[in-house]
Amino acid sequence: MTERLILLGVGTCQLEPGRATSAVLLELDDLRLVYDFGRGTADRLASLDLRQDDVESIVLSHYHPDHVSDLVPYLHAASHSRTDPRSRDLHIYGPPGLDDVVGRLLGLFGPGSLVVEERFTVHLEVVESGTLAIGPHRFEYRHLPPAGNHGLKLARGGRSYALTGDSDFHREEIDFLSGVDLAIFDSGHLSEDQIVELAVASRAKRMICSHIYEPLDEVALNARASARGYTGEIRIGHDLMELGLSG
Ligand SMILES: [Zn+2]
Repeated sequence: MTERLILLGVGTCQLEPGRATSAVLLELDDLRLVYDFGRGTADRLASLDLRQDDVESIVLSHYHPDHVSDLVPYLHAASHSRTDPRSRDLHIYGPPGLDDVVGRLLGLFGPGSLVVEERFTVHLEVVESGTLAIGPHRFEYRHLPPAGNHGLKLARGGRSYALTGDSDFHREEIDFLSGVDLAIFDSGHLSEDQIVELAVASRAKRMICSHIYEPLDEVALNARASARGYTGEIRIGHDLMELGLSG
């Protein structure tokens, strides 16, 4: 498949027409994974004509509802859809607490309601901050304060891509984005001053604002960052925005 990132949503817990909560689809030649799975993610995957068995891995940044809640409708459909029942195992990766939070979520409605054991298994795989291995792929999976959140970073063809999930403005965030070719970052917990500062300090080449709470002014952000010597580009993300992994 074409190697690409698609922003499934750029929103937050706020209910906004046209905006799902922040989640990213990553497609590599031999892997399709979804990073975070909050409100609207399942519908966005369906709108891309992706069937249940097309998605093998979900990586959770942390356990706030806006990052996990659509696991319920997604797995309900996996088990009981008549047009697209799941037959392939699903791997869910997340920080410590995975069994407690996601295990309880999946068990909430009783046996067989979200996972029909005869057809597929959901594997819950706890990942400590550091390296996440999925098949032949190695991701950096890094704790970013303050919400117990974990960013995901991938190196591919001499380029680097970073997703921050739900972060804040701090030294760890700057280090995580330092010099990356593309960052899809939580801009909603940052002020406009901090977004500019993050661009200038990290020197990330392209920065896509996601997890958006307040309206953002793309022109003004770029002008202010540029005046501080930033040579990259800041863009406001939107749902279903597609970004290639090359060029
Ligand atoms: Zn969030």
